[in-house]
Amino acid sequence: MPKIVSRSAVSTSTDAVPTESASASLKVYYCLCGEFALVIDKDITLLPRRKTDGALILRAQGVEGQTKAQIFKLNVNISDPIFIKRDNSLELQYRYTCTRCTLPIGYQTTPPIKSGPYVYLIHGSVTQQQGVVPHAAFEGENETYEALRAREELEINPPSTAPE
Ligand SMILES: [Zn+2]
Repeated sequence: MPKIVSRSAVSTSTDAVPTESASASLKVYYCLCGEFALVIDKDITLLPRRKTDGALILRAQGVEGQTKAQIFKLNVNISDPIFIKRDNSLELQYRYTCTRCTLPIGYQTTPPIKSGPYVYLIHGSVTQQQGVVPHAAFEGENETYEALRAREELEINPPSTAPE
């Protein structure tokens, strides 16, 4: 189990409010519970998305001479890694959770914690209007209870590679 050495330097919403001169270009996003979650210099709807789950892609590391890293700051805790079933494989996710309500905000799929090449922001996990739940948060709401349970079960007990 990875140990969290340091948490985000930004710890409260009051600390995180950008100064007036900086706020013109910085956008602040909140968890559905109202806790400050992300500050970024770009509208997140403009970010590319993962094909697998529609998560927004934040490039945390630039590539020399090609692309720059996205500038952002997350206010999250990191939970123990879990397995998520993808079509024919399992994906290991280090989940980023809200510091107040522990709802998942995003994740990374490669260690080391907080310095992997990409950070994925879960679709519908944050909102720009504090205290307002974004429409995207309701997507998949009609998923059946059985399907939900089956997925949770899988997350808790990833199948062994050996057939039964
Ligand atoms: Zn929250």
